[in-house]
Amino acid sequence: MTELSTTKPASPKKRIVVIGSGFGGLATAIRLQTRGFDVHLFEARDKLGGRAYLYEQDGFRFDGGPTVITAPFMLNELFEGAGKNPEDYLNLVPVEPFYRIEFHDGRHFEYGQDEAATERLIGQFAPADLDGYRRMITHAKAIFQKGFVELSDRPFLKFSDMLRVAPDLVRLQSYKTVYQFASSYVKDPMLRRVFSFHPLLVGGNPFQTTSIYALIHYLERQWGVHYAMGGTGAIIQALGKLFCELGGHIYLSTPVKRIVVENGKAIGIETVADRAVQAHAVVSNADVANTYLKMIDARHRRKYTAAKLNRMRYSMSLFVIYFGTRKTYPGIKHHTIILGKRYKGLLDDIFNKKLLSDDFSLYLHRPTATDLSMAPPGNDCFYVLAPVPNQKSGIDWTKEANPFRNAIMRYLDERYLPGLLDNIVTERLLTPLDFETTLNTNLGTGFSFEPIFRQSAWFRPHNESEDVQNLYFVGAGTHPGAGVPGVLSSAKIAENLICQRLQ
Ligand SMILES: Cc1cc2nc3c(=O)[nH]c(=O)nc-3n(C[C@H](O)[C@H](O)[C@H](O)COP(=O)(O)OP(=O)(O)OC[C@H]3O[C@@H](n4cnc5c(N)ncnc54)[C@H](O)[C@@H]3O)c2cc1C
Repeated sequence: MTELSTTKPASPKKRIVVIGSGFGGLATAIRLQTRGFDVHLFEARDKLGGRAYLYEQDGFRFDGGPTVITAPFMLNELFEGAGKNPEDYLNLVPVEPFYRIEFHDGRHFEYGQDEAATERLIGQFAPADLDGYRRMITHAKAIFQKGFVELSDRPFLKFSDMLRVAPDLVRLQSYKTVYQFASSYVKDPMLRRVFSFHPLLVGGNPFQTTSIYALIHYLERQWGVHYAMGGTGAIIQALGKLFCELGGHIYLSTPVKRIVVENGKAIGIETVADRAVQAHAVVSNADVANTYLKMIDARHRRKYTAAKLNRMRYSMSLFVIYFGTRKTYPGIKHHTIILGKRYKGLLDDIFNKKLLSDDFSLYLHRPTATDLSMAPPGNDCFYVLAPVPNQKSGIDWTKEANPFRNAIMRYLDERYLPGLLDNIVTERLLTPLDFETTLNTNLGTGFSFEPIFRQSAWFRPHNESEDVQNLYFVGAGTHPGAGVPGVLSSAKIAENLICQRLQ
C-alpha cells in the first residue's frame, strides 16, 4: 500500500481521490491518471473489483459478479487511451451461444452471434413470430443507436438535457415496459420471456423497466458476448496493473469514513483509521445512497436527504452459490438461464411484494465451458444466482440462506446437474446481507436504484453531485446505470466533467 501525506500535493498535479474499486472506480482512476491527475484509489476490501471480486478457494476461481462481458471496446479504450495495447493485458474471447434458456416445460432456446441460426430456431419454435422478431430487432437497433451510442456517455446534469431527448424517447415508445415492447412483436409466451429478461441483468423488472433497456439485447448482438481468459477477475487485475503502471496509488483494506465538505465543497476524505487526505475532487464509486447517507453529513445534503433516499425505488438483490464439483458437466453451456414456471408473478414477489418465494428463476454460470483454468483438472466450476428481494423485505438471511440454498441445489441436481449433491467439493454463498455489509450497499441491492424511467438519465443521481461541489459519482447508482458497459460509461462522463472543471 502506498503511503500518503495529509498535506496538499506539492506537485502542480491536482489530486483526485476515488472511493471504491469496482469497474466504475477503476476505469475512472485510469482515465484521470492518464489525463495527468494524481489519483489515489481507496478500497475497503482486501482486493480490487467490488462486485467483480475474485473468490479463490480449494483450487477453484469464482468470479463474484459480472460474467457476461459486452461492448469489449469500452475496456480496450482504457488501455489504448493510456498508449498501451489491450492484448498485452487481456485475452478476450467470444462466447457461443450467448445464452441457453431453459423453460420449465423442458424446452429450451439458444441464441448467439449467428443471426440466421436464431431465425431458424424461431422458425421451429414459433414460426408465426419470425416476422415480428425481425421488426422487433429493427426497433431495438433504433433504441440502441439513441440510448447507447448517442446518450450513454453524455451527462444529464440539466433538465433541459432531458427535454432535448424527450421527442426521441416518445418516438421510440420508451413509455412502454420491456415486456410490453417484446409482447408487441412476438406472441409466444416463452419468446416473450427470452426477449424481455435483459433488464434483470441491470437490476430492473421487465414489467416495470422502460423499453429503452431493450437496447441490451441489441448491444449483445452488436459486439458479441465475451469472456476474459482467467475470468472477469483477470480484467480487474489488468486494470489494477495498468493504473499502477501509470503511477496511480491504490490503498486496499482502507475504508473511507467521511467525505470532508467545507463551504459546500468536497475537499478530501477521512479514512476509518482517521487518516485525512486532501483532494481537489472526490469521486465516489461506492453505493450512491450510502455515500450520501453514511459519508456526507446531513447538513450538506439539500436534495439527497435521508427521506428522499428512503422514498426512492431500489433494485432487487441476489442470492449466489459458488460451487466446484469433482464431476464435470460438459453438456452445460457457459451461460444458462433457467426460467421457472412463473414469470410476472415471481418478479412481482421479488420487486414489489418483497417475498421470498418457494420457486425461483436462475442464472447458471459455468466458466469451465470456456476456460479450464478456473477449476483443478477434472473438476467443474459454477455459480448459480437467483434474484431475490432486497433488504427492505426484512428476510432473515441468517435463517433463510440454508433452506433456500438446499432448494436450489436439489432443483439443479434433479433437472440439470445429475449427481450434483454428491459431487460438491467446495462452496460459498453470497446473500443480500453480504451486499449490505461487505459491499456497503444500501438495502443490500445487487444494482443500486431500480432502473425505472423516473430514476433514469436526469432523474438518476447525477454524475456530478447535486449537493456537494467537487464530488462526482461513477458506478451503478448514477447515470447511465448498472452493468459493466453502464459503469464504464459513467467513468467516461466523470473524466470529461472533472477535466472541464479542473484543467
Ligand atoms: C452477481 C452479479 C452478477 C452480475 N453480472 C453481470 C454481468 O454478467 N454483466 C454485466 O455487465 N454486469 C453484471 N452485473 C452488474 C455489474 O457487476 C455491476 O453493475 C458493476 O460491476 C458495478 O460496478 P460499480 O462500478 O458500480 O462498483 P461496485 O462493484 O459496486 O464496487 C464498489 C466498490 O466500492 C467499495 N466501497 C464501498 N464503500 C466504500 C468505502 N466507504 N470506502 C472504500 N471503498 C468502499 C466496495 O468495497 C466496492 O469494491 C452483475 C452484478 C452482480 C452483483
